[in-house]
Amino acid sequence: MFKEDFPIFDDQLIYLDSAASSQKPKPVLDTMLSFYTHQYSNVHRGTCALASRATQMYEDARQTVADFISADKKEIIFTKGATEAINLVASGYAQTLKTGDEVLVCISEHHANFVPWQQACLKSGATFKVFGILPDGTWDMDDFNKKLTTKTKLVAIAGMSNVLGVLNPVKEIINFAHKNGVKVLVDSAQSICHSAIDVKKMDCDYLAFSGHKIYGPTGIGVLYAKKEVLEQLPPYQFGGDMIDIVSVEKTTFAQLPARLEAGTPPIAEAIGLSSALDYVQQIGWDKVQAHGKCVFTHLIQQLKEMKDIQFLGNPDLKSGLVSFNINGIHPNDLSMILSKQNVCVRVGHHCAMPLHQFFNLSASIRVSLGLYNNEQDVDTFVVALKKAIGFFK
Ligand code: PMP
Repeated sequence: MFKEDFPIFDDQLIYLDSAASSQKPKPVLDTMLSFYTHQYSNVHRGTCALASRATQMYEDARQTVADFISADKKEIIFTKGATEAINLVASGYAQTLKTGDEVLVCISEHHANFVPWQQACLKSGATFKVFGILPDGTWDMDDFNKKLTTKTKLVAIAGMSNVLGVLNPVKEIINFAHKNGVKVLVDSAQSICHSAIDVKKMDCDYLAFSGHKIYGPTGIGVLYAKKEVLEQLPPYQFGGDMIDIVSVEKTTFAQLPARLEAGTPPIAEAIGLSSALDYVQQIGWDKVQAHGKCVFTHLIQQLKEMKDIQFLGNPDLKSGLVSFNINGIHPNDLSMILSKQNVCVRVGHHCAMPLHQFFNLSASIRVSLGLYNNEQDVDTFVVALKKAIGFFK
């Protein structure tokens, strides 16, 4: 249905790795090429018309991002990805956390929302705590309630795990955390392309995502934070653009968002991301979700019929992506044979080693869908998977 919008696809390629990174639609490619060809300049510095225009486009992109998640423009910081957005917040916490404070994350977090907190706690002497999941892949809310204490300073959780594919009840955690005076960071790297996000309704304190997982370019990500929370974050990097006055004696810093965007920003990438968000908006969330649900349901139905399949979590609770193993066959071997049939899936720990340790696994196969996938892709994949399994059994 939407495949024709994505020039990479020919008759052969079956791309089932959108959770790692999505392919790019023509409007995004055209926008970026046109910017570099006709409109390119650095931003915020020059007085020439070209620089003013590029600055306007970069700042318009910030507005588009803000509108997309119902935030205020002043609450949007451009980063190079979700990882950098989370590190920006974690480096601030590393400076303010004290011995006795606690940070709470889930065992299913991507390393990007696990390691920065572990390191911030190591540096500051705070305690790094982890709440569990149930075997079906949902959060263990009893464990969460037990582990959130009066010492907790921050909860960092994903809207959707990149392995389990469960859309998590973040609002429930946010409400409970806020009742206890605890701030919450939501890693929306996966959930951003599955449903509309309204940060005001969600009431998260911080939210992070990457452009490349929602049909935008690499090298651009977003940190949203409530204005009063952003004001508290110390500069993450120092240099051009983020200063007010510099002298030999001292430096004062610029207002937000510049204070947290040192150096030349990813200009074309921000403009490309804005075009990707426009693309999704123009299709509309209703259609995006209906299409996604239809193809994913077809995928799960087919997989459930397969012998020797072992899902990570309950397949009926997932959307958009599914991870599994076939008993007795290493996922690397399967993926190699799938690749020979032009089918791209992902194998490994998917940057979620603690989660794989919970399931007593070292690796799994992940199939993840994008707007461009259709039922025919699923059928081709299933035939290819059966062929690959047949090779070993
Ligand atoms: N969180 C989750 C849930 C992810 O899936 C990913 C990317 N796989 C990240 C964070 C990190 O995103 P990036 O590598 O684009 O910074």
